[in-house]
Formats: sequence, structure tokens, C-alpha cells
Amino acid sequence: MSILEAIDEQQAAVLSRIAEASSTAELESVRVEALGKKGSLTQLLRGISQVPTEERAAVGQAGNAARDLVEAALEQRRAILATAELQARINAAAIDVTLPGRAHTIGAQHLISRLTEEIVEVFRGIGYRVVSGSEVETCYYNFTALNTPPDHPSKSLADTFYVVDRSGEQSAIAGESDVVLRTQTSGVQVHTMEDCELPIYILAPGRVYRRDVADPTHLPQFTQIEGLVVDKGITFGDLKGTLEYFCQQVFGPARKTRFRPHFFPFTEPSAEVDVSCGICGGTGCRSCKGTGWLEILGCGMVDPNVYGYVDIDPEEYSGFAFGLGVERIACLKYNVPDLRYLLEGDMRFLRQF
Ligand SMILES: [Zn+2]
Repeated sequence: MSILEAIDEQQAAVLSRIAEASSTAELESVRVEALGKKGSLTQLLRGISQVPTEERAAVGQAGNAARDLVEAALEQRRAILATAELQARINAAAIDVTLPGRAHTIGAQHLISRLTEEIVEVFRGIGYRVVSGSEVETCYYNFTALNTPPDHPSKSLADTFYVVDRSGEQSAIAGESDVVLRTQTSGVQVHTMEDCELPIYILAPGRVYRRDVADPTHLPQFTQIEGLVVDKGITFGDLKGTLEYFCQQVFGPARKTRFRPHFFPFTEPSAEVDVSCGICGGTGCRSCKGTGWLEILGCGMVDPNVYGYVDIDPEEYSGFAFGLGVERIACLKYNVPDLRYLLEGDMRFLRQF
């Protein structure tokens, strides 16, 4: 067989394999077998240098023509197969892989939930147990058993949400069995003292409700954390040490605390606790109204009268209680100027934390 015949034969064989190829992958192996470094057509074209000089031009021309023809056929077939394959993929998956993907946004804990857990962890670390109560409570547990006088203004309809039977009339000052949305988590303390064995070291986090119009410093619903300790030989020194430890854990070791005398119905003596202003470092600025201090919580020694409601002997046991608002702590810790930002759900605000 002359070399020209061999070229013809190879050309025909390769073209028919190209026509039969059913996928781009198969087509690629046909290309490598024919035109690759060790391909059949490549070998043949290399042999042209052995051809006698007078025939070489004709053979060379035939060889190049064969290669061009094969390359053109490959290109044409590849385009057809690639389109068919893409169409098959789209039909099979019903997913257009060429479209940009849809990003899944991952949620995160709200600042208030996270801070609540952080505070709970501080107290858990020093032996407190977490208890929870219901958000609807009777007047007895919300007020009376906490030594609140019957005519205390916080009991009025203007300050407290009463849960009213539709047919029932509500008096201005409610009776003990009336139901309210709890105005404080302190009711949990009474339940705990009734149910629990002594000593008591508990923390009660939860939502409370007051009839306030939302403004930069008030919310009708907020998160409170109350703590209660009842044990033998508990003194005001224990209360101070505990709350100073708490403030340093939450606000950092550089912040100072101070205790100011105050009044709460269920503690005696009572105090309000301030932490030194983080913005001015205690020298006085707009945030702390020039005082250098920010009020963060209320506390006191449990009033012996309260023990009378729950059958604990005040001669043998003593204790302290404290209550703080998580939203307020969040504002002080992160310098949030308006409590309402915490409830508005604006992602631009919430993503900062
Ligand atoms: Zn300040």
C-alpha cells in the first residue's frame, strides 16, 4: 500500500469513528488516537520524511489535507455533542447549574438571649441553679407574698397588665386571686421558697410586663434575671461580694461598683448597685449624666416578713435577693442609646453583636 493510500484509508477510518462518537469524552479519545503525539495519523505524517523527494510535495499536501479535514470534523461533532449533553443535564437535574446559587442566611442568637445565657453562666459557675416560672401569675405571688402593701402604686391598672375574664369587672386595686402578667420574676422566689429544701441558691431569668409606653429607657416587655440566696449565716457582705464578682465578669475587671441605699418592699436593707461608666471611665460624661456611674440593678437582704409567708425561720436563716434587666445591661455593655433598637429586628443593628 502506498503512503497516499494509507493516508486515505486512515482519513476514512478516523472520519467514520468521529461520526459514530456518542459523547464528547469518546470524541476526545478518537482525537488522541488519531492526532495525539502517538496518534495513527500523526505517525503517518511523520513518515512523509522517508518518501522520495519527487513524491514528497504531493504526499505532504494529501497529509495536511487529511489532518485539516479530521480537525474540522472533530470540531463540528464536538459542538453537536456538547449541546446535546448540556440539554440532557438540564433536563435530568431540573437545576440550571449555570445560574448563580441562592445563599442560605444562617441565623444567630439575639443579643438579649446571648447576654441572658452569659449572665446565667456567671452565676452557675458559683453554684446557682436556674428555675423558671410562668409569665402569668396571681396577685398573691406577684405582690402580696413579696411584702407589697395593698395600696402600692405598682398594683394599679395604670402600671400592671391584668388578665380579665370578659364578663368580669376589674376593680382599681385587685384582689389576691386576680391574675396579672408578672411585673417581676420575684414570684419565682416565693414558689421556690415554698417548694424547695434549704439552702436556696437560684437564678430566675424570664420575661416580665409593665404598662409602659416604649421609649429610649422603657419597654412594656423586658427580660429580668432575679437571684435569691437563703442559707444559714448569709450577710450583706456575701451580697456585696457576689454582685461585685458578677459586675467584673460581665463588664470587665476595670469597672468599679458602688451600693446606694434604696427601698424595695421585699428586702431590708435594700440597695441599688451602680457600675462605673465605661465611656468616661468614671470622670463623668453625657451617658452617665456627669456622675461617672450607671445604675445596673437592685438588691437587698430578704425582709424577715417575706419568710413569714413561706414558713422559713428568720432566726435561723437569712438571705439576699437581686434583680436586673438584661436589656439595660446590654445597653450599658454595648453603649446602645435606645432600648427599642433591641426589639425592632433591624438586621443592620443586630449584626453588630
Ligand atoms: Zn460617663
